[in-house]
Amino acid sequence: MSSTLPLQPSLDHLKKQAKDLLKAHQLGDAAVCSTLRRLRHLAQASDAEILSAPLTLRQAQHALAKEYGFTNWADLKAAVGTVNAVTAITGSCFCGSVRYQIEDPPTNVTVCHCTGCRRASAAPAVAWITMKAESFRLVQGELRMVRGREAEPGTCDGFGGIRGFCAQCGTHITFVGDARTHEVDVTTGSLEDPDRFPPIEDCFAEKKLTWMNTLAR
Ligand SMILES: [Zn+2]
Ligand SMILES: [Zn+2]
Repeated sequence: MSSTLPLQPSLDHLKKQAKDLLKAHQLGDAAVCSTLRRLRHLAQASDAEILSAPLTLRQAQHALAKEYGFTNWADLKAAVGTVNAVTAITGSCFCGSVRYQIEDPPTNVTVCHCTGCRRASAAPAVAWITMKAESFRLVQGELRMVRGREAEPGTCDGFGGIRGFCAQCGTHITFVGDARTHEVDVTTGSLEDPDRFPPIEDCFAEKKLTWMNTLAR
C-alpha cells in the first residue's frame, strides 16, 4: 500500500517525516517495517532483521519517497516543487507590465479603511494580504516607490510608509510600513486570484466612510 502526498506538500514536513521514521526505527517500532521494506536490501527481511539493521537518514528518505510512489527522494523533491509552483500566489497590475510572485502563504488578510490606503488607491477601502518582506518577488516590470505627503492632523494613519505602484499604469501594489519593515502588504485586488484570500479583519474601522460597511462577519 502506498500513500499519497498532501494537497500542498511541504518539503520541511516530509524531511521531518523521514527523521521520525529514522527515530522510530532506532526505538524498535515495528510499525516502520512495511515502509523500510521498500529499500531493496530489506525487501525480504523479517521485522527483527529490519529493526536490527543499520539505517541512515538518506535511506529513511528513500524509503519514504518510495512509499509515496516516487523513484527516489530527488524525484519527490522535484514533485513537491512542481505542485507548489502550480499553487504559487501571483499578481499583476492593470497594464500588465508588473508581475509578481509570493513565495509563502500570507500571515494576515485584512481590509484597511485608513486615509493613506484610501488616498493611494482612490478607493473607499483597500484589501491587503501581509507577508514576510522576503516572500515578495517582482518577476516583471518596475515598481515606483512613493512616500505619502505629510499627514494632516487627525489623518495620520497609513501615511507612515512607502507604497509601490506600477511605474507604467500606477496600480497600487505594495505597502511597507515604517514601523514594520520586515513585512510587506500586497493589494488583494492585484492578485490573479483575489478570492483565495478573503479578508478576516478590518483595520482602522473607525476611519471608514459613512457609506461603507465593515466585513459582515
Ligand atoms: Zn501597470
Ligand atoms: Zn491602510
